Amino acid sequence: MNAGRRRAPQVLGADVCVVGAGAGGAVAAAELAEGGASVVLLEQGPRHDADRFTARPMEMLARLYRDGGQTTTLGNPPILLPLGRGLGGTTLVNSGTCFRTPAAVLERWRRDFGLEALTEETLEPCFERVEHALSISEVPPELAGRNAAIARRGAEALGWSHGYLKRNARGCVGSGVCAFGCPASAKQHVGITYVPRAEAAGARVLAGADVRRILTARGRAQGVEARTAASRIEVRAPTVVVAAGTIHTPLLLARSGLGGGSGQLGRNLALHPAVGAFALMDELVDMAKGVPQSFCVDELAGEGIMFETVAGPPSYVAMALPLSGRRHAAAMASYRRLAQLGLMVSDSSRGSVRALAGRPLIRYDLCQDDVARFRKGLERMERLLRAAGAREVYLPLPAGVAPRDAQARHLKPMAFHPLGTARADARPTHGVVDAELQLHGVEGVHVADGAVVPSSLGVNPQLTIMALATRLAFGLLGRAVPRPTADEEIACPS
Ligand SMILES: Cc1cc2nc3c(=O)[nH]c(=O)nc-3n(C[C@H](O)[C@H](O)[C@H](O)COP(=O)(O)OP(=O)(O)OC[C@H]3O[C@@H](n4cnc5c(N)ncnc54)[C@H](O)[C@@H]3O)c2cc1C
Ligand code: SF4
Repeated sequence: MNAGRRRAPQVLGADVCVVGAGAGGAVAAAELAEGGASVVLLEQGPRHDADRFTARPMEMLARLYRDGGQTTTLGNPPILLPLGRGLGGTTLVNSGTCFRTPAAVLERWRRDFGLEALTEETLEPCFERVEHALSISEVPPELAGRNAAIARRGAEALGWSHGYLKRNARGCVGSGVCAFGCPASAKQHVGITYVPRAEAAGARVLAGADVRRILTARGRAQGVEARTAASRIEVRAPTVVVAAGTIHTPLLLARSGLGGGSGQLGRNLALHPAVGAFALMDELVDMAKGVPQSFCVDELAGEGIMFETVAGPPSYVAMALPLSGRRHAAAMASYRRLAQLGLMVSDSSRGSVRALAGRPLIRYDLCQDDVARFRKGLERMERLLRAAGAREVYLPLPAGVAPRDAQARHLKPMAFHPLGTARADARPTHGVVDAELQLHGVEGVHVADGAVVPSSLGVNPQLTIMALATRLAFGLLGRAVPRPTADEEIACPS
């Protein structure tokens, strides 16, 4: 045992202890602190400094992502599942796309999970608050890049529904490296918006603080135990908001002996698995310029198939191209004429996460319905890129495998949207938290991250998570969620 562990823990007191400073945790912490609660926000990862963001993918992957971005699922097929770590959580490395929760999804939550309170009407002020705080607006065509223009041309030729995406950015210069840390601090991730707001309102924010246990007594929250490199910390608080993310929240709850009553903790993992196809165009595309994820084709969204543009610098494309040997070299030599389109599936497959030797073991197999969505999506993707004028299309399938013959093992998906491992369900027998995001059977322990989202959304989830965290914060303050006013001061990146 080292000297740091022998020392008595540093004890802090607060009304609320928030665990994790990502999409859910940072929003909850700021709204609570500004509402007058004393808040301690504990984040396992570091405080990142945008002045040190180099935009070089390999360097930034190692610095901003958990395990260098190499988190992977076990199953058929294995899926790379990158996660951010630090103040800002995964919002620090995400693409900035913002969608409200679709009405059909809220209706499903009401029907299948008894979440009557989560309606478009009740969530409206929550969405408005987040959209105002993060300067969310539609990407202007001149910033969207030529990659988006190609997807648009294809969609228009086929008469498919499409549009520019909304995102949380201010002063974006279209440098194309959102996933590797925005060097211009234009992306309004929560590390430069809500976290500074929380601090300005008096919250104590500790980076490098790994929460090991949530403390409860007689069915009530008491606080948390955490450790840093140098010391142990005990936060005594009657309310704990857990927002360690979909993969780590169930592990923290399980090692605290909480949330296991329904047998659902760590289960129901949805991922939105995704693949990308490339097209060789006759014209100059130059994917290094423009917002990487700026345009969507949502013609098949109702079937759980969504296309969003993806782009990046040559070092990213070299990793992502589904080619090898001479074909890879030839395509890379034509980098400036390459375009890319992503395909994301609103999955009905469900996986699980549990701890193995203290680390998450993530199981997930793609079910036949989702394989069928990929088959159709890949076929339509090729059609769209050809309609846009592609000379060649490189689908993410082994040579000789056509979309209609694709099997799970042929796919090499990545996933960016883990959800559902502490799902909300009004019934204690079916869910981990209730509609107020409080653990069933435990007073004062709440969850405010992707883990509570009880189903796939079919759209990118950060805005849903932030809106739910906003609703939770005002619920804890015992106030209605106020709409943002035009003159309300919103934090600026420093
Ligand atoms: C490359 C990429 C692109 C994406 N693009 C988009 C997009 O364009 N639009 C969109 O809507 N979504 C996008 N996402 C997903 C989105 O960012 C996440 O859904 C969202 O950030 C999840 O929020 P969260 O609060 O659940 O977790 P996170 O934001 O991941 O935050 C969890 C935090 O908790 C911390 N933590 C974990 N364990 C502990 C512990 N024991 N103690 C203390 N702290 C702990 C973690 O370090 C982390 O900082 C993308 C994701 C990736 C990886
Ligand atoms: S495209 Fe815009 S938001 Fe993305 S990294 Fe560049 S400046 Fe930042």
